[in-house]
Formats: sequence, structure tokens, C-alpha cells
Amino acid sequence: MTTQLTAGQRALLEAELIRRQGELDRQLADHQGGLSRVEHARELLAQDSDDVSQREAEREMDMELSDRDIAGLGAVSAALLRLKEGRYGLCGDCGEAIAFDRLKAEPWALRCVGCEGRRERAAL
Ligand SMILES: [Zn+2]
Repeated sequence: MTTQLTAGQRALLEAELIRRQGELDRQLADHQGGLSRVEHARELLAQDSDDVSQREAEREMDMELSDRDIAGLGAVSAALLRLKEGRYGLCGDCGEAIAFDRLKAEPWALRCVGCEGRRERAAL
């Protein structure tokens, strides 16, 4: 049986989300070095290299890293919005409160352990 979060637990999770948001923001900024993704790709293409496949691989890795950061940032922002709107901590599938232990590990979690497990099994 899960219960709603206490004010203290919410404050702790909010602080963690904000910390995480700042971290991802920095990572993305570092990563792209102030360039937009298109410019970044163009710059890499413009660099003359004999080892094209190496460049390709590096470029792909670059993109993947950014995509992951962007997705992470989106999940964190969405969680902060849910907090603000008072919808935070409820499972998107069954509507039950998500356990605090789970939120502590993954403050942006959208579903309770049970529903997440069901989804993972369904995806296999
Ligand atoms: Zn659920």
C-alpha cells in the first residue's frame, strides 16, 4: 500500500529534480559548445579527414548523447511541472501513488513499479 508524499518528501524530490535539471543543462551546453545541432553536424562534416567512418561514428555518438540529454531534460521538466500542478507522484497508468523509494531513485518516474514492470514485459 502506497501513500501520498509528505511535504518534506516532495521538497526533497523537487530539490533533486532542480539539481538534475541544472546538471543536464550544463551537459548539453558543454556538449554542443554553443552550436546548434545542425551547425555542429556541418562543422564535423566540413573537417577534412581520411578516416570518414571514424568521423561518422563520432558524429553519431555526439547526436545520441545529446538526444539522451534532451530526453532526460524533458522528463525532468515534465516532473517539475507535475509538482507545480499537484499531479506529481501519481502513476500515469493506474493512478496510484508512486512509492517514495522509487521516486528517490528516479524522481521523474511516470509509473509505479507494478505498471512499469508490466510495460517492460509487454515491450519484450
Ligand atoms: Zn501504476
